[in-house]
Amino acid sequence: MRIAVAARARFRCEYCLQHEDDAIQSHHVDHIISEKHDGETALHNLAYSCNLCNWMKGSDVAAYDASGRMLIPLFNPRMDSWDEHFGLQFGEIVPLTAIGEATVRLLKLNTPQRIAERESLASCGRYPRT
Ligand SMILES: [Zn+2]
Repeated sequence: MRIAVAARARFRCEYCLQHEDDAIQSHHVDHIISEKHDGETALHNLAYSCNLCNWMKGSDVAAYDASGRMLIPLFNPRMDSWDEHFGLQFGEIVPLTAIGEATVRLLKLNTPQRIAERESLASCGRYPRT
């Protein structure tokens, strides 16, 4: 099942798009809806995730918006289109929707270190520019 999940994702993290060849640690198979919330271990509930995204997401399925009043579901790679919810700008993952914003914030996708790493990878053709 791991091979099927990895191949479907083309060996990239389905949240931050980092290729596993560019990661220090192996990517993980993430339960989009965690087992804690009765998520199945089945292809339709699994995503390929880098170590950092997987660790930051944990068992969460949603995050509060910036106002702290509205609970927003996290990006679901099986239901949502990455390009609909995110854009790229010089290594920064730019949220385009409330789902994108909640996911960027909870997974801490835009720490200075992660942006610098993506800029560096993009400069040598290892990460998409836009
Ligand atoms: Zn990631």
